[in-house]
Amino acid sequence: MKEETKLIQNILSDPLTGSISTPIYQTSTYVQESPGVHKGFDYTRTNNPTRKILERLITDLEYGYGSLAFSSGLASVDAVLKLLECGDEIIAVNDIYGGTFRLLNLYKKLGLITKFVDTTNAEKAISVVSNNTKLFWLESPTNPTLKISDIEYISKESKKKNPKLLVVVDNTFASPAIQNPIKLGADIIIHSATKYLAGHSDVLAGLITVKDPDLYEKLKYIQNATGGVLSPIDCWLTIRGSQTLYLRVQKQSKNAFKVASFLEKKKDYCIDKVYYPGLQCHKNHLIAVKQQRYFGGVVSFSLKKDTIESAKKIVTSTKLFKLAESLGGTKSLICHPATMTHKSTPLDVRRNSGIQDSLIRLSLGIENVEDLIEDIDQALK
Ligand SMILES: *Cc1c(COP(=O)(O)O)cnc(C)c1O
Repeated sequence: MKEETKLIQNILSDPLTGSISTPIYQTSTYVQESPGVHKGFDYTRTNNPTRKILERLITDLEYGYGSLAFSSGLASVDAVLKLLECGDEIIAVNDIYGGTFRLLNLYKKLGLITKFVDTTNAEKAISVVSNNTKLFWLESPTNPTLKISDIEYISKESKKKNPKLLVVVDNTFASPAIQNPIKLGADIIIHSATKYLAGHSDVLAGLITVKDPDLYEKLKYIQNATGGVLSPIDCWLTIRGSQTLYLRVQKQSKNAFKVASFLEKKKDYCIDKVYYPGLQCHKNHLIAVKQQRYFGGVVSFSLKKDTIESAKKIVTSTKLFKLAESLGGTKSLICHPATMTHKSTPLDVRRNSGIQDSLIRLSLGIENVEDLIEDIDQALK
């Protein structure tokens, strides 16, 4: 079966009643026949039938061995970091998601060492790998300047240098509709399902998918020990939202491409840079073509007049694009990273990762693109 078919058909009807929609098993515990004898479920922190269906769904989508669902994307990031011990080293993409940066900062106190590198320069990034490196943490595309790293090449070459190292890919910005990191050689995939997977801006959810059974058992232990599991109703919302993943991502990518092309044409007028992996002028365009099925639903751009004020004027002038953090929903959003998502990032770190004062990020929804372009056009004026 092709991926779109698999996604829909693998959500089986309920064997008990035939219910075509997945039942929400809103229960904390399960009746046992005799002590320790049960139907595979003893307590919802450990196992829940609705959660199990979601975990199977993402395992199939990402070509993994198994998956675990958490109460947020960051709870899943946290579980992966708990695989490490004091003194272990992480090599991470330098414009890593802000929340992951914050968490790595907390773990610094507990002895984890993180080295941030520009992973778009694969050779240089691999040269940093040592015997002590336990994780190689990638995001592609990154937020908000959409840098693309060569997942296949980095996975292969970094493991040649240190065979025990695990490659983690935070696949949130791409979603499984665009790329499948395990197929490209990664060991662990993270999703903030809050974004494209659930897709309707109505739930916080995190998912981990792993390549092998040993890793699955270790992370299952961590999840059960720490308890940040996704609730049954949020599992249901994520299953329900995921069913239209391919439709949404195709449309969002089409919309993004058209909006990026429109912004490109405004370069004579007020736009400075446009960031979109689908544009030939994007620095990592060729890797994106090789690695991705679509170019994604996020576009960023900066202004000739590079000030916070000029960006603020635009983000408060759009009518259809709503001013909000987050991405990947059905409704188009606009955001000003310097004063919103990256407000707590130190100025030099922000500038170094190319986030200008006037940088604006768009998350394209599924509306008609002509209306969206008209909305941006009037805001730019
Ligand atoms: C949003 C996001 C997260 C965190 O997910 P939450 O569900 O908000 O906890 C992690 N990584 C990336 C790339 C994200 O965009």
